[in-house]
Amino acid sequence: MLHEECGVMGAYDFDGGDVAIDIYHGLYTLQHRGQESCGIVTNDYVKLYTIKNKGLVNEVFTKENLGTLKGKIGVGHVLYGYTGEENDGIQPIVSRYCKGSMTIAMNGTITNYDELRSELEHRGAIFQSSSHAEMVMNMVAVARTQTHSAEEALAATAARLQGSFSIVLMSPKKLIAVRDRYGFKPLSLGKRGNCYFFASETSAFDVIRARTVCDVKPGELVKIDETGVTHYDDNVGKVTPAQCIFEYVYFARPDSYIDGKSVYQARIDIGRELYKACPAEADVVVGVPSSGLHFALGYAYESGIRYADGLVKNSYVGRTFIKGTDEVRREAVSVKLNALRGAIDGKDVVLVDDSIVRGTTSANLIRLMKDGGARKVHMRIASPPFIHSCPYGTDIPDRKYLAAVRMTIDEICADIGADSLGYLPMTAFDRVGLCGRYCDACFTGNYPDAAERKNK
Ligand code: SF4
Repeated sequence: MLHEECGVMGAYDFDGGDVAIDIYHGLYTLQHRGQESCGIVTNDYVKLYTIKNKGLVNEVFTKENLGTLKGKIGVGHVLYGYTGEENDGIQPIVSRYCKGSMTIAMNGTITNYDELRSELEHRGAIFQSSSHAEMVMNMVAVARTQTHSAEEALAATAARLQGSFSIVLMSPKKLIAVRDRYGFKPLSLGKRGNCYFFASETSAFDVIRARTVCDVKPGELVKIDETGVTHYDDNVGKVTPAQCIFEYVYFARPDSYIDGKSVYQARIDIGRELYKACPAEADVVVGVPSSGLHFALGYAYESGIRYADGLVKNSYVGRTFIKGTDEVRREAVSVKLNALRGAIDGKDVVLVDDSIVRGTTSANLIRLMKDGGARKVHMRIASPPFIHSCPYGTDIPDRKYLAAVRMTIDEICADIGADSLGYLPMTAFDRVGLCGRYCDACFTGNYPDAAERKNK
């Protein structure tokens, strides 16, 4: 099964200009959401143009091949990970069926995938991959034979999907986006002149000089075609939204706004709350690049302790998050980050990171700091302990591997070699305005759709 934390992008230019270059720049901005593969498909009403492959955006696309992508409508995607098979799931996925062509880019995980796929297979569908996007495409194709339009087919399909999804679909003459009714994954609508864009994060709009029009609301479907931009909100507000709180903690870029809230400001505010909940006496506050930096700034603002750049990042190494073996992770940390001795030598340090998953990365970071001359390292974590898995697409390992499941906080502190350890309390999310409409199940076990999944 795919575990996606991907990025999607779509564009529709009412003036008829080629949209590929804008999608390319948007995907470049969304690269942090997926580094395994990427692709762009465009449509000039006559034919489709496709380029997709394994690799980073700047590896897959060149000035020359981008110039071959013609058309005023397009869809793009960056993919986080494969299921293991070669090219399994590289998106966007393109298919031809009785109503013409269909192209889909999707971020999310369908929790009733097995049941829906089995149903399709028993009706004769053939699959080339285990990609959830391919299964969604099959469902839309079937629904399209029973409905009057692509948007109706996508709406009918979305109504049967459980789990998380932000989907951008291109039919021969339309660009349509839909977001699951809990809104687990972000999706926004942007505009520059007469060109409209969908993107997983608003920072993708900044780079192409577009402005954010609005977020696609949880449960909403938005269609763009020759008649204009149409919002369908029949499913909006049917459940309490549950946007992934971890987008603010880790996934999203700090220059993005998710559902109207600044990721940067959320991180600064969380850092302030972290100090209030877990103060420490130290000479400097150091953030773990990149997602820990703004938490550390907030901690420094609130505490009055000086902020220092105590870790230097090698920007040419991809994210490691929670992939690979312990040994790979250990080496990856050392290659990716190095301690800045001049900033920490002989000092007591507060080291702020976004989370602890297995504990391996934290142990390596603390070793780096101490090798770099830090006298004491007080570890502060800008999220509560990770104690549950995520069925909505975040690649959290089995519970038995999670540090906070295996050990008490004191035991984790000793295990990672810290002089003290403090986590953000759950209540701090409330105080920074991240309450009421957010999923926090990996910290609490409160799965927003638990009842409906149990009923299946
Ligand atoms: S369980 Fe955690 S990672 Fe998954 S959607 Fe909820 S908050 Fe996000």
